[in-house]
Amino acid sequence: MRYGLLLFDEPVRDTSRKIIHVDMDAFYASVAMREDPSLVRKPVIIARHPKKTGGRGVVATASYEARKYGIHSAMSAQKAYELCPHGIFVQPDFELYRQISSQMHAIFRRYTDWIQPLSLDEAYLDVTENHVNQKSATLIAQEIRTAIKQELNLSCSAGVSYNKFIAKIASDYRKPDGITVIPPKDAQAFLMDLAIENFPGVGKKSVEKMHSLGIYKGSDLYNQDELELVKQFGKMGHSLYRRARGIDDSPVKTEREPKSIGKESTFSDNLQSDSEVIKAIRVLAGKVMTNLKRKQKHGKIVVLKIRYDNFETYTRRRSFPDYIKSEDELFQIALDIWEEESRTMGVRLLGITVTALESVVYETVPLPLWSSSHNERIVKKNED
Ligand SMILES: [Mg+2]
Repeated sequence: MRYGLLLFDEPVRDTSRKIIHVDMDAFYASVAMREDPSLVRKPVIIARHPKKTGGRGVVATASYEARKYGIHSAMSAQKAYELCPHGIFVQPDFELYRQISSQMHAIFRRYTDWIQPLSLDEAYLDVTENHVNQKSATLIAQEIRTAIKQELNLSCSAGVSYNKFIAKIASDYRKPDGITVIPPKDAQAFLMDLAIENFPGVGKKSVEKMHSLGIYKGSDLYNQDELELVKQFGKMGHSLYRRARGIDDSPVKTEREPKSIGKESTFSDNLQSDSEVIKAIRVLAGKVMTNLKRKQKHGKIVVLKIRYDNFETYTRRRSFPDYIKSEDELFQIALDIWEEESRTMGVRLLGITVTALESVVYETVPLPLWSSSHNERIVKKNED
């Protein structure tokens, strides 16, 4: 039963991250209009014309004009044609979409390497630490939206919050061409009011089941017992319980796996004494470890970078058989490396990096609480 207690410990809300969800507005249809301005404000349907396919085919995207006729993605092209016979059918051009998508990512990378694409036109960005040293994720989101508009001539919507699922809900909130920021202090009230069908991951079937259980909005979900939710919805019940409380620790998972996480500091006054250097190493080790935990990564190689007064720069590296687990351990390693330096000058820059990163995989523990199908649970989920 010990593990049961572990699972049902009241979850803690981490609000330290800054996450942006960027979603292009009616992407394929907007691209078609950009390429052919005569299509602007017309009901554009991205699908091959049903007359050319003998009625087969489905709608990939419809412009906002076409949506007024009830046309939506995944609808059969034939149905769309019946709803709007004067609609303009445009064949999708995936090569062009991919090209634009990589242009979008180039814009994202000006700010962060922590980018998780969900599709060609949608991505999560973790900007907690970013390339422009901007503390406001909202300002970064605005700049990204402006760059996409100016450079790609397309519009997008953005959601800003402290985790992925709230950022995703937020980006949809003022669509098209909108931005919604949900800071930690507003999240709970926002979620309490949110219709259950707007919680990401709750499909049509689950919505019906929720309604039959009297769960219509976030506050109804909030008041459910966790064990009951898990009984009814399996693994999803567990995450719903957390989401109703604004909790989602799943990291932004990059496709190009960053190989290292590090932090460096340049000192306006060069560090002269050993104790100053040790203090700086302590601070850096703490920041790097926090960032590793946030990203759910760990590594076995530590690199200490030192730049002296005269701009000579050294990087010293140590490998270990086991993953570095704690801030103390990282501090101790960096300190050991530092102590081997025979320095004669002031230090103007220090950096600590942990490399050869791998994802932290949490152990699966058996839980004797449920029937056989529920016997295995991952205590801390590593994926979403
Ligand atoms: Mg989109």
